[in-house]
Amino acid sequence: MQGLMQDWPLTVDKILDHAKAWHGGREVVSRSVEGPIVRTTYAAIHERAKRVSNALKALGVAPGDRVATLAWNTGRHIEAWYGIMGIGAVCHTLNPRLFAEQLVYIINHADDRVIFTDLTFLPILAAIRDQIPGVKHFVVLSDEAHLGDQLPGALAYETLIEQASADVAWGGFDENTAAGLCYTSGTTGNPKGVLYSHRSNFLHTLVTMGGDVLGIRATDTVLPVVPMFHANAWGLAFSAPAVGAKLVMPGQKLDGASVHELLETEGVTFSAAVPTVWQMLLQHLRATKGQLTTLKRVVIGGSAVPESIVRGFRDEFGVDVTHAWGMTETSPLGTQATPNAAIAAMDDETQLQFKLKQGRAPLGIELKLVDDAEKDLPHDGSTFGRLKVAGPFVVGQYFKSEGGNILDDAGFFDTGDVATLDEHGFMQITDRAKDVIKSGGEWISSIEIENIAAGHPKAELAAVIGVAHPKWDERPLLLVKLKAGETSTKEEFLQFLEGKIAKWWTPDDVAFVEDIPLGATGKIDKKLIRDRMKDYVLPTAAASVGGAVALAASPEPKIYAPEHSDHDDGAWLEWTPSPHQTLDRTQSQVQSGAKLQSPEAPADAVGPFRRS
Ligand code: ADP
Repeated sequence: MQGLMQDWPLTVDKILDHAKAWHGGREVVSRSVEGPIVRTTYAAIHERAKRVSNALKALGVAPGDRVATLAWNTGRHIEAWYGIMGIGAVCHTLNPRLFAEQLVYIINHADDRVIFTDLTFLPILAAIRDQIPGVKHFVVLSDEAHLGDQLPGALAYETLIEQASADVAWGGFDENTAAGLCYTSGTTGNPKGVLYSHRSNFLHTLVTMGGDVLGIRATDTVLPVVPMFHANAWGLAFSAPAVGAKLVMPGQKLDGASVHELLETEGVTFSAAVPTVWQMLLQHLRATKGQLTTLKRVVIGGSAVPESIVRGFRDEFGVDVTHAWGMTETSPLGTQATPNAAIAAMDDETQLQFKLKQGRAPLGIELKLVDDAEKDLPHDGSTFGRLKVAGPFVVGQYFKSEGGNILDDAGFFDTGDVATLDEHGFMQITDRAKDVIKSGGEWISSIEIENIAAGHPKAELAAVIGVAHPKWDERPLLLVKLKAGETSTKEEFLQFLEGKIAKWWTPDDVAFVEDIPLGATGKIDKKLIRDRMKDYVLPTAAASVGGAVALAASPEPKIYAPEHSDHDDGAWLEWTPSPHQTLDRTQSQVQSGAKLQSPEAPADAVGPFRRS
């Protein structure tokens, strides 16, 4: 027997309709790419998004066509999203931090018809234009006055929507219609597209609105620092209008000072970003004796949150941290570390240990932990295995069936993460499956060691990788980037780890490096580090193969010049630093530093690496 309730397709246009109807005057504030702060409302965004829909139709965009955005978080970007999705076209978010050749691959694979772009990215598009012939129109998210001639034939967004009518019907199609497309960063193989449906986005929005998940409310002011091009800004461009929260969009300025300014001037109560952004904010606040007078809660995910960040926010600024885990394939929120009743009854310090875990599953996410033979593993908080997920906003297959069948017989998707689950259902990531260090048949969690090492007062960043070892297969190597002006020794770091990790997890060596490369989504790029360290010989490995003296005296570890990037042109570097751009600059420094670090260099040469 079928139920007799209304058939009301779960399409995302209804979210903005709702915001217009019931929170129409609520503000959306953006730091525009042109510079000034721009204020608008949900009602105005709704009207302009409708104009976007008509403009796209006039450009020949039909339902199912892919329309890309290469843009920062701004009100215009939100208009473009809803304008695209409302007519059944597919909004494909492009990550500008990818290398040009990856962007070309992704744009062609997705068969994008139109690209909305911020002024910032015109040089990138001008450089690759010949290689993306399927793109028929470029729309610059600005006005005629700023258009310039970098991308001949590009259309000015403001002119385009001014000329379009706001009279268009949204929705009216099946809720399983594709709404969004986002490619994973492709750390293994080519990037793969995750194709969200209206239904999956709508359900993800409902779930993340829950008090134990993001828990934002109409009274909140929300600053999504996490970019809309990185896993949909964790759904905030849907959930904020859904609840009627004020939205503050940071544009391209994601450094500590700019984020702090917006937090304070706009009265932000809730924000979300990856740990590196918060690290920069805390450093800025400490250096300037800044305060956070309105911020109550931050959600941190994308990579594991270091304890020092949770304590810093709590003890110095009275801000509560919610640690969350997810991936492009889970829309993206998968778990969040909000306490259940038993944990809430514990003292603060015990609760903090649960906050550092990635947390528990909300309704709509099923989790399981299995070994390599697919056998279920116990939820004892210490046995680690492969983490698998299922649910209505978890990927079923990749776009164009890349990778074939990606679900197991029970319909679960293998996240590629290695994790534990405890008796409270709290999941803790111990590693990416490909980063886990296999030593003597046992697994060592690289993340656990690097998180502890990153908590050393002298450390700015730490990374641990497995390095080949003739006896144990692999042994851990700890790389440390010290804070400016600090000096340290291998012994100091090994002592710091003592008692905090099992003895056999102790890194075989510590190397001090000028920089630790981050990938396109601000995470430590282990693949690149492994690649650069592939000739590195551990002192212990040298000893165990004999000829200790000769091998131990092998050249200092070298860090190789970064791969060529089209982003190394002037325009890219002129941007206000965001974590990754800072990285681009430091990579060039590493490149020049690497020359100093030739084997002939004197022992005290200041190069990218110093060995204690
Ligand atoms: P990528 O950054 O590779 O494009 P995602 O943004 O989808 O892809 O990243 C998903 C991965 O990021 C997860 O599978 C997990 O390994 C890692 N991750 C996300 N959140 C956390 C977290 N809170 N702690 C540890 N790792 C995390």
